[in-house]
Amino acid sequence: MKLKTDGLILREQNIGESDRLVSVLTGDYGVVRAFVRSARKVKSNMLSSTALLTYSSFTLYKGKETNSISEAEPIEVFFELRSDITKLALAQYFCELAGELSPQDIEGTESREYLRVVLNALHFLAKEKKSPELLKAIVELRLMSLSGYMPNLVACSECGKYLTDIMFFDLVTGLLYCKSCRPAGDFRQVSARVVEAMRHIALSDMERLFSLSLSPAETAELSAVTQEYLLIRTQHAYKTLDFYKTVR
Ligand SMILES: [Zn+2]
Repeated sequence: MKLKTDGLILREQNIGESDRLVSVLTGDYGVVRAFVRSARKVKSNMLSSTALLTYSSFTLYKGKETNSISEAEPIEVFFELRSDITKLALAQYFCELAGELSPQDIEGTESREYLRVVLNALHFLAKEKKSPELLKAIVELRLMSLSGYMPNLVACSECGKYLTDIMFFDLVTGLLYCKSCRPAGDFRQVSARVVEAMRHIALSDMERLFSLSLSPAETAELSAVTQEYLLIRTQHAYKTLDFYKTVR
Protein backbone atom coordinates (compact mmCIF):
# COMPACT_ATOMS: atom_id res chain seq x y z
CA MET A 1 0.00 0.00 0.00
CA LYS A 2 1.43 3.34 -1.08
CA LEU A 3 0.72 6.35 1.10
CA LYS A 4 1.59 10.00 1.35
CA THR A 5 2.18 11.31 4.83
CA ASP A 6 4.31 13.75 6.77
CA GLY A 7 6.32 13.15 9.88
CA LEU A 8 9.25 13.88 12.13
CA ILE A 9 12.26 11.55 12.19
CA LEU A 10 12.60 10.43 15.83
CA ARG A 11 15.40 7.93 15.34
CA GLU A 12 17.77 6.82 12.60
CA GLN A 13 19.93 3.77 12.40
CA ASN A 14 22.33 2.82 9.63
CA ILE A 15 21.83 -0.66 8.19
CA GLY A 16 24.48 -2.36 6.07
CA GLU A 17 26.38 -0.41 3.43
CA SER A 18 23.87 2.21 2.41
CA ASP A 19 20.44 1.66 3.99
CA ARG A 20 18.83 3.35 6.91
CA LEU A 21 16.06 2.36 9.31
CA VAL A 22 14.08 5.27 10.72
CA SER A 23 11.31 5.80 13.27
CA VAL A 24 8.94 8.50 12.07
CA LEU A 25 6.22 10.21 14.09
CA THR A 26 3.47 10.72 11.52
CA GLY A 27 0.19 12.54 11.91
CA ASP A 28 -1.85 9.68 10.48
CA TYR A 29 -0.33 6.42 11.74
CA GLY A 30 1.54 7.30 14.92
CA VAL A 31 5.13 6.05 15.04
CA VAL A 32 6.11 4.11 11.92
CA ARG A 33 9.37 2.26 11.40
CA ALA A 34 10.54 2.20 7.80
CA PHE A 35 13.58 1.36 5.71
CA VAL A 36 15.15 3.94 3.46
CA ARG A 37 17.00 2.03 0.73
CA SER A 38 20.28 3.47 -0.50
CA ALA A 39 19.80 6.54 1.68
CA ARG A 40 23.52 6.88 2.22
CA LYS A 41 24.58 6.68 -1.42
CA VAL A 42 26.41 9.84 -2.41
CA LYS A 43 23.84 11.04 -4.90
CA SER A 44 20.81 10.27 -2.75
CA ASN A 45 18.80 13.28 -1.63
CA MET A 46 17.19 11.03 0.96
CA LEU A 47 20.11 11.48 3.32
CA SER A 48 19.07 14.87 4.66
CA SER A 49 15.30 14.37 4.43
CA THR A 50 15.44 11.21 6.56
CA ALA A 51 17.93 12.51 9.14
CA LEU A 52 17.13 12.76 12.83
CA LEU A 53 14.96 15.77 13.78
CA THR A 54 13.90 16.48 10.20
CA TYR A 55 10.23 17.04 9.45
CA SER A 56 9.49 15.78 5.93
CA SER A 57 6.73 14.68 3.61
CA PHE A 58 7.07 11.04 2.63
CA THR A 59 5.92 8.47 0.14
CA LEU A 60 5.61 5.39 2.28
CA TYR A 61 5.07 1.79 1.22
CA LYS A 62 3.39 -0.17 3.98
CA GLY A 63 4.09 -3.85 3.67
CA LYS A 64 3.04 -6.88 5.70
CA GLU A 65 6.43 -7.28 7.35
CA THR A 66 8.29 -4.04 6.76
CA ASN A 67 7.65 -0.53 5.55
CA SER A 68 9.84 1.53 3.28
CA ILE A 69 10.17 5.15 2.28
CA SER A 70 10.68 5.77 -1.42
CA GLU A 71 10.56 9.56 -1.52
CA ALA A 72 11.08 12.25 1.09
CA GLU A 73 11.05 16.01 0.87
CA PRO A 74 12.16 18.08 3.88
CA ILE A 75 9.62 20.58 5.25
CA GLU A 76 11.58 21.80 8.28
CA VAL A 77 15.13 20.91 9.26
CA PHE A 78 15.69 22.64 12.65
CA PHE A 79 19.33 23.49 11.87
CA GLU A 80 19.75 25.47 15.11
CA LEU A 81 19.28 22.32 17.19
CA ARG A 82 22.37 20.65 15.76
CA SER A 83 24.91 23.27 16.76
CA ASP A 84 24.13 23.40 20.48
CA ILE A 85 24.65 20.31 22.62
CA THR A 86 22.04 21.30 25.26
CA LYS A 87 19.37 21.98 22.67
CA LEU A 88 20.23 18.81 20.78
CA ALA A 89 20.09 16.74 23.97
CA LEU A 90 16.67 18.12 24.89
CA ALA A 91 15.38 17.69 21.32
CA GLN A 92 16.47 14.05 21.39
CA TYR A 93 14.66 13.60 24.70
CA PHE A 94 11.47 14.98 23.10
CA CYS A 95 11.94 12.42 20.32
CA GLU A 96 12.42 9.56 22.78
CA LEU A 97 9.32 10.60 24.73
CA ALA A 98 7.25 10.87 21.56
CA GLY A 99 8.51 7.48 20.43
CA GLU A 100 7.53 5.96 23.77
CA LEU A 101 4.14 7.62 24.31
CA SER A 102 2.63 8.03 20.82
CA PRO A 103 0.41 5.40 19.15
CA GLN A 104 2.50 2.80 17.31
CA ASP A 105 1.81 2.23 13.61
CA ILE A 106 -1.98 2.10 13.73
CA GLU A 107 -4.11 3.01 10.74
CA GLY A 108 -6.71 5.66 11.42
CA THR A 109 -5.08 6.74 14.66
CA GLU A 110 -5.14 10.38 15.68
CA SER A 111 -1.52 11.17 16.29
CA ARG A 112 -1.48 14.64 14.75
CA GLU A 113 -1.59 16.34 18.16
CA TYR A 114 1.48 14.42 19.38
CA LEU A 115 3.26 15.61 16.26
CA ARG A 116 2.12 19.21 16.77
CA VAL A 117 3.31 19.24 20.39
CA VAL A 118 6.78 18.01 19.46
CA LEU A 119 7.15 20.18 16.32
CA ASN A 120 6.10 23.29 18.22
CA ALA A 121 8.47 22.49 21.09
CA LEU A 122 11.36 22.00 18.63
CA HIS A 123 10.51 25.28 16.94
CA PHE A 124 10.49 27.25 20.21
CA LEU A 125 13.68 25.48 21.33
CA ALA A 126 15.47 26.22 18.05
CA LYS A 127 14.42 29.88 18.02
CA GLU A 128 15.07 30.31 21.78
CA LYS A 129 11.56 31.67 22.25
CA LYS A 130 10.83 29.73 25.44
CA SER A 131 13.04 28.43 28.24
CA PRO A 132 14.22 24.86 27.60
CA GLU A 133 12.99 23.73 31.04
CA LEU A 134 9.51 25.11 30.37
CA LEU A 135 9.38 23.34 27.01
CA LYS A 136 10.52 20.14 28.72
CA ALA A 137 7.65 20.38 31.25
CA ILE A 138 5.09 21.13 28.52
CA VAL A 139 6.18 18.18 26.37
CA GLU A 140 6.32 15.76 29.32
CA LEU A 141 2.92 16.56 30.76
CA ARG A 142 1.07 17.14 27.48
CA LEU A 143 2.27 13.90 25.87
CA MET A 144 1.40 12.03 29.07
CA SER A 145 -2.06 13.59 29.12
CA LEU A 146 -2.63 12.59 25.48
CA SER A 147 -1.46 9.04 26.03
CA GLY A 148 -3.65 8.04 28.96
CA TYR A 149 -1.71 9.44 31.92
CA MET A 150 -3.84 12.58 32.30
CA PRO A 151 -3.64 13.68 35.95
CA ASN A 152 -6.87 14.79 37.66
CA LEU A 153 -6.04 18.45 38.27
CA VAL A 154 -9.47 20.04 38.14
CA ALA A 155 -9.86 20.41 41.93
CA CYS A 156 -9.00 18.87 45.29
CA SER A 157 -10.18 15.30 44.88
CA GLU A 158 -11.37 15.22 48.51
CA CYS A 159 -13.39 18.44 48.99
CA GLY A 160 -13.53 19.91 45.49
CA LYS A 161 -11.75 23.16 46.40
CA TYR A 162 -10.28 24.69 43.25
CA LEU A 163 -7.08 26.25 44.56
CA THR A 164 -5.17 26.84 47.81
CA ASP A 165 -1.77 28.59 48.05
CA ILE A 166 -0.07 25.20 48.22
CA MET A 167 -1.57 21.91 47.10
CA PHE A 168 -0.42 18.30 47.18
CA PHE A 169 -0.04 16.10 44.13
CA ASP A 170 -0.04 12.32 44.31
CA LEU A 171 2.59 11.26 41.76
CA VAL A 172 1.30 7.69 41.73
CA THR A 173 -2.40 8.32 41.12
CA GLY A 174 -2.26 11.79 39.54
CA LEU A 175 -4.75 13.14 42.09
CA LEU A 176 -4.59 16.61 43.62
CA TYR A 177 -5.39 17.59 47.24
CA CYS A 178 -5.82 20.99 48.89
CA LYS A 179 -3.96 22.12 51.99
CA SER A 180 -6.66 21.02 54.47
CA CYS A 181 -7.31 17.63 52.86
CA ARG A 182 -3.68 16.59 52.52
CA PRO A 183 -3.75 12.84 53.11
CA ALA A 184 -0.99 11.10 55.05
CA GLY A 185 1.81 9.86 52.86
CA ASP A 186 4.48 11.04 50.52
CA PHE A 187 2.90 13.69 48.30
CA ARG A 188 4.58 16.34 46.22
CA GLN A 189 3.94 19.86 47.48
CA VAL A 190 3.06 22.18 44.60
CA SER A 191 2.58 25.95 44.64
CA ALA A 192 -0.65 27.48 43.33
CA ARG A 193 1.11 28.94 40.26
CA VAL A 194 2.49 25.55 39.32
CA VAL A 195 -0.89 23.84 39.84
CA GLU A 196 -2.36 26.34 37.40
CA ALA A 197 0.48 25.77 34.95
CA MET A 198 -0.09 22.01 35.11
CA ARG A 199 -3.81 22.54 34.46
CA HIS A 200 -2.95 24.68 31.47
CA ILE A 201 -0.59 22.08 30.00
CA ALA A 202 -2.95 19.16 30.52
CA LEU A 203 -6.22 20.83 29.54
CA SER A 204 -5.75 23.89 27.31
CA ASP A 205 -6.42 23.97 23.57
CA MET A 206 -3.44 23.17 21.38
CA GLU A 207 -3.46 26.78 20.11
CA ARG A 208 -2.84 28.11 23.64
CA LEU A 209 -0.55 25.36 24.92
CA PHE A 210 2.74 27.21 24.44
CA SER A 211 1.47 30.61 25.65
CA LEU A 212 2.38 29.61 29.20
CA SER A 213 4.79 31.96 30.98
CA LEU A 214 6.43 31.40 34.39
CA SER A 215 9.34 32.76 36.45
CA PRO A 216 12.59 30.73 36.43
CA ALA A 217 11.87 29.43 39.97
CA GLU A 218 8.32 28.38 39.04
CA THR A 219 9.63 26.77 35.84
CA ALA A 220 12.16 24.74 37.83
CA GLU A 221 9.44 23.59 40.24
CA LEU A 222 7.10 22.67 37.37
CA SER A 223 9.78 20.80 35.44
CA ALA A 224 10.74 18.77 38.53
CA VAL A 225 7.10 17.74 39.16
CA THR A 226 6.31 16.79 35.55
CA GLN A 227 9.54 14.79 35.32
CA GLU A 228 8.87 12.89 38.57
CA TYR A 229 5.32 12.19 37.47
CA LEU A 230 6.55 10.90 34.11
CA LEU A 231 9.20 8.62 35.60
CA ILE A 232 6.85 7.18 38.22
CA ARG A 233 3.84 6.68 35.95
CA THR A 234 5.60 5.31 32.89
CA GLN A 235 8.12 3.22 34.88
CA HIS A 236 10.62 3.79 32.12
CA ALA A 237 14.20 5.06 32.11
CA TYR A 238 14.94 7.65 29.43
CA LYS A 239 18.57 7.59 28.32
CA THR A 240 18.23 10.92 26.55
CA LEU A 241 16.91 12.54 29.75
CA ASP A 242 19.96 11.33 31.67
CA PHE A 243 22.17 12.78 28.96
CA TYR A 244 20.30 16.10 28.95
CA LYS A 245 20.79 16.35 32.72
CA THR A 246 24.56 16.00 32.30
CA VAL A 247 24.79 18.86 29.75
CA ARG A 248 22.12 21.39 30.81
ZN1 LIG B 1 -9.63 19.65 49.89
